[in-house]
Amino acid sequence: MANSWGIPKNIEDLVLERDQRCVYCGCEFGAERAKKKSWEHIINDIRITTLDNIALCCVGCNASKGSKELTNWFYSENARKRGITSETIADVVKVALDQRQESPLN
Ligand SMILES: [Zn+2]
Repeated sequence: MANSWGIPKNIEDLVLERDQRCVYCGCEFGAERAKKKSWEHIINDIRITTLDNIALCCVGCNASKGSKELTNWFYSENARKRGITSETIADVVKVALDQRQESPLN
């Protein structure tokens, strides 16, 4: 799964090693379409290619989140239907959510 997002190779390698499950719903990646791995920018800004913003999530979550802002999506009905809670999300997502909530500009 080559990425076409301009993600630096070292970041790509670290994320591939770190994210063994979907960072949102926690599912194990698989061959089935909705469970395939996909590259995710936690904050929807493709210029941010840091370890904090690049993650792997399943195609199902990626499609559900789309271009929605992380916090809005996390608390949405769509995320709830997917079974996404503070228990299923990876640490990298928890940190991003905390940061969003502390910033009044977002
Ligand atoms: Zn998922």
